[in-house]
Amino acid sequence: MEVENKTLFGKYQIGRLLGKGTFGRVNYGKEIATGESVAIKVINKSKVKKEGMVDQIQREISVMHLVRHPNIVDLREVLATKTKIFFVMEYARGGELFAKVVKGRLSEELARKYFQQLISAVAFCHSCGVSHRDLKPENLLLDENENLKVSDFGLSALPEQLWNDGLLHTQCGTPSYVAPEILRKKGYDGSKADIWSCGIILYALLAGYLPFQHENLIYLYTKLLKAEFEFPPWFSLESRTLISNILVPDPHTRISISSIMSAPWFLDGFSSTSTCSSPHHQPWENKLASRVHHPLSSSSPKFFNAFEFISTMSSGFDLSGLFEDKRRTSSIFTSKCSPSVILSKIDSMAKDLRFKIEKGKDSQVRLQAPSEGRSGRLLVAAEVFKVAEEVAVVEFSKCSGDTLEYEKLCEEQIRPALKDIVWTWQGEYCEEFSKSS
Ligand code: AMP
Repeated sequence: MEVENKTLFGKYQIGRLLGKGTFGRVNYGKEIATGESVAIKVINKSKVKKEGMVDQIQREISVMHLVRHPNIVDLREVLATKTKIFFVMEYARGGELFAKVVKGRLSEELARKYFQQLISAVAFCHSCGVSHRDLKPENLLLDENENLKVSDFGLSALPEQLWNDGLLHTQCGTPSYVAPEILRKKGYDGSKADIWSCGIILYALLAGYLPFQHENLIYLYTKLLKAEFEFPPWFSLESRTLISNILVPDPHTRISISSIMSAPWFLDGFSSTSTCSSPHHQPWENKLASRVHHPLSSSSPKFFNAFEFISTMSSGFDLSGLFEDKRRTSSIFTSKCSPSVILSKIDSMAKDLRFKIEKGKDSQVRLQAPSEGRSGRLLVAAEVFKVAEEVAVVEFSKCSGDTLEYEKLCEEQIRPALKDIVWTWQGEYCEEFSKSS
């Protein structure tokens, strides 16, 4: 029995829901023998199995025990049943750091304290060959003493599509924390991408808002790729210098973690008391290095370089070219899931709707309605474009049938059915932009 009378293996009492991620929920828990509070992340194996990652997760778990640092949520133990994996973690009583920031920007001193703790955790993990690659508000928690605790360090070194849960509940659902090279290249250095995310986080702590944020995804990407942002007037000169050195689009010229730690702004009041146990890091380095690049096989979907994609999209915001004349009858979203996951999700959605599925070449499918509509049978095409290693763009368009019926289908069936795999819908920005242009 996995969870009986709200206890887990008779060892932990399961309490209230603390939060939700794509792979499952996180509940408050209490160790029955000691009364100690814990957080229990419940992961559905079926979701992980779809990606064929079960063995890898099991390997990662044993390594996670080695990544121990005062500013990283401690993984106490892992329990598993046939269908679920339970991560029993240190409970971060103070909740998410960004719950504070949404109430208003932090003082420079407090922002510096959290940033020092974040960088200590990140530097420690990088020294072990572990990169987080998904640093974002949901992963920054606080303990009862207001100390920062980064969660999911180690687990996030898995390919990102497995750990994209936060994207569904970030402030604005936009890729505001993603480093430019993730959008630009096939592979990237996870540690450099972490540094970028730390820069975004520092800016947000000091400003109370993000440096790159816009409902128009293309505008956002363009700004982000060029690192075009402005400082509000209250930023000190030293903090501006540091952030300007972090938010550098080229990862090779971006400041290193050791240079951050010797920057005057960082050093103010910093004591390196946050020491930690030394992990055995050699195996990780090899393992992670082999994980960063995932060469595309010949059967992979069409690959679009993100720059090509963006320049096509942004040429006067005329969508001719990539999306031809389908502006009015197409619906586009970005996803961090792999094309195979996206296609299988579309497949199961079509089955639920009793649509006939026809596989096209590359990553195209056509879905035909089960019955006649006002202008014949509705025929919808879906195509997956891989724009970067972790980003795919999915386009739905109407091939034949009634436009209103197609729009209704998109709104009432397709969007809700695919919500788990959608990063951001771009349907809105087309309208937004056409209104303002
Ligand atoms: P995750 O699936 O890791 O993104 O977690 C979802 C949410 O659960 C987080 O955003 C937190 O609000 C909460 N949470 C996760 N881990 C912990 C923890 N160790 N202590 C307290 N809350 C947590």
